[in-house]
This record gives sequence, structure tokens and C-alpha cells, in this order.
Amino acid sequence: MQAPFVTLAFSSALLLSLVVKFWLATRQMRHVAAHRHQVPAAFVATVTLAAHQKAADYTLAKGRFGLITTAFGSAVLLGWTLLGGLDALNALVRDNVPPAWGALAYQLALLAAFTLIGSLIELPLEWYSTFRIEQQFGFNRMRLGLWLADLAKAAAVGALIGLPLAALILWIMGASGGLWWFWAWLAWVAFNLVLMVLYPTLIAPLFNKFEPLPDEALRSRVQALMQRCGFAAKGLFVMDGSRRSAHANAYFTGLGRSKRVVFFDTLLQRLSPGEVEAVLAHELGHFKHRHVLKRMLGIFAISLAGLALLGWLAGESGFYVGLGVRPNLTAPNDALALVLFMLALPPFGFFVAPLMAQLSRRDEFQADAYACAQASGADLANALLKLHEDNAATLTPDPLYVRFYYSHPPASERLAALPGAAMAARA
Ligand SMILES: [Zn+2]
Repeated sequence: MQAPFVTLAFSSALLLSLVVKFWLATRQMRHVAAHRHQVPAAFVATVTLAAHQKAADYTLAKGRFGLITTAFGSAVLLGWTLLGGLDALNALVRDNVPPAWGALAYQLALLAAFTLIGSLIELPLEWYSTFRIEQQFGFNRMRLGLWLADLAKAAAVGALIGLPLAALILWIMGASGGLWWFWAWLAWVAFNLVLMVLYPTLIAPLFNKFEPLPDEALRSRVQALMQRCGFAAKGLFVMDGSRRSAHANAYFTGLGRSKRVVFFDTLLQRLSPGEVEAVLAHELGHFKHRHVLKRMLGIFAISLAGLALLGWLAGESGFYVGLGVRPNLTAPNDALALVLFMLALPPFGFFVAPLMAQLSRRDEFQADAYACAQASGADLANALLKLHEDNAATLTPDPLYVRFYYSHPPASERLAALPGAAMAARA
């Protein structure tokens, strides 16, 4: 493949994705601002003007910040690639890791250096998001100490898991010939399955406390629901989400015996027992419809295609040169190819995102329908409204923005699809 073609394809995808991102973001912000003065008709009985306006202001603040992070991220991406950042880092690492340590040491050092620098560059933005935007709207509950401790822990866990995995993949790339990408894919799949089993029981507890539901009456109610739905009764946990944020949520995680439904304590504080049951029934709907499994299989299929593509690109000098990097002449190029691929892929992947979001929204409707069959639709509607309010999610998003980005249907569509919606309007 010719280097100028790679440069052209990459810059076109980057430019086009940027234009579309900015266009969508400004559409969303204009739409939300235009509807800020009035609660939409369907919600006048359930949502106050103050809550509606807080959601609008929060959406606008995040939207403005999103424009900055998008522009910044693209500048960094250009810096790494066409402007020569990765090339310079590669030369620096290659010339400073003693050859006696072996080619694997140089390659791991390159991956580690790249990851570390990339994270440090993004740190100020994350700080701003937490301690300025979330703080301003009363969501942040973290002090700087906890934030830094989280960072240190995440870095340690990332290194502990990431370095052996990277070493394994690099070894496969170097040792298994032309079909390396298939063996690397098998290793990647196995790693993800293990991680899905271990994450809820070993990794998530490093950051949060998980406890069984404390309330006895609620527990027996919830256990009856879980039995009806054929879900192991020990799989429900409450997480101390309030340590970090006032945002409320519930999610489904794990695989096999480790699968569980997790409620944020912030959510439990706000919901009535019936509403807790309805939200749990929704999460169990994801389990019943095998959404986690299907999504995982989809991701595995996409990674196989991605690795096959990388298997071809890694052997083309035009791939490196076209993205601003001179391939090594005396050392292996596998780590370099991995980094370059991770950098170059997102501008192209951006155009697949709407399809993913569409599938995810379909899953949410299915889980809602299941919840209405197993619990009260009116309770689910009320719980969804409280969740929207607690997270200051706008009730008036731009429809096109929703199609592109939203993993969950907006409240208006979601409530309209519930049989209990009419009842909830009076609550
Ligand atoms: Zn859901």
C-alpha cells in the first residue's frame, strides 16, 4: 500500500469525523438551548422547570467541554502521527533500551511509554470534567486525594494486567508467522473471558464496596423477582457510588457464576421498593435476552476483522510511513504497528458508532418490555424519570444527535413505549 494513500485516507477520515462531530454537537446544544424555557408537554406533571433547566445547563456545559476535548484529542492524534510524535518516541525508546535486554523489552517499553504519555496528556481534561463541571452541578463528591488514589490504583491494575497481556500478544506476533493475527485473537478472546469473570469479584472491589441489599423487606421482594426470572439470588449487590458522585445508576456485569446486578446506593436512596423491583427487572431483561453475550460475540467478531486487517497492514511499509513513522530496520515493528493501529482506527470507527448505538437502544426497549411483564410498568416509568432527574439528562435532545450517540433511548421515547406510562404521569 502506498504511503500517500494512507495519509490521504487517514486525514480524510479524521477531518470528516471532526466535521460531523462538531456539526452534531452544535445541533444538540442549539436544540437543548431552544427548549430550555419550557418543560415538554409530556412531562409538565412530573418534572419541575428548575430540574429541566438544570438538565439543559448541564448538557450545554458538557457540550461546550466536549467541543474542546474533541479539538484537543484531534490535535494530539495529529501530533502522534503525521507530525512525528510517535516516530520521535520510538527512536528515543529504541536507542535507550539496551539491546541486551532483548527486542521484547524495547517493545514493551514503547507501549508503556506511549500509554503513560497519552494518559498524562488527558489528565488535565479529566480533572476539569470532575472538579469543574461535575462540581459546578453538585454531582462530584470526590476530593483530590481520592481522585489521585483512584488514578494510582487504576495505573497499577492496568500495568499488572496490561503488561503480561502485551507481552503475550507481542510474543505471538513475533513467533507465529503469517497467521499471527488469528492466534493473537484467540489470546485476546480468552483474556476477555477471564477478565469478565474476574472483574466483578477481584477488580471492581478495589475501587468500591459491594454489599448485599441491607433492607430485609426489599430483599425478599427482590429475591422473589429473581427467582421468577431464573437468576441466582446471590447476584444482587449495592455499590457505594455515593463516594465519588451523586449520579445514580444500575448495571449488569460478569459472566457465569460471577454475573451480578449492581445498584448504586444513590439509586436505592431515591427509589421506592416497587421502583427498585422494576429497575432490577429491567436489568434481568438484559440477562434474559442475552444482551451481554450477544454484544460480547459482536465485539469478538469485530476484533477478529480488525486484527486480520492489522495482520496485513503491519507488513506494509506504507502503513507506517503514511502515518508519519519510519519503521525499524533492525528491531521488530510489532509494538509500533499496534500503537499506530490504535491511533489510526478511531476516526474510521466513528462512522460505525451509530450502528452500535442503534443496537444498544433496541436492547433497552427489549429490557423495558421484559421489566413491564415481570414488574410494574408505572414503577419503571417513575424510576426512569427519577434517574433522568438525578443525572440531569436532558428531556429535549436533538433527534439526530440521539440517533448517532445515545446508547439509551431518550426519556420521551422510552416512556411512551411503556404500558404503565399513562399512570406514571400522575405520580
Ligand atoms: Zn438497560
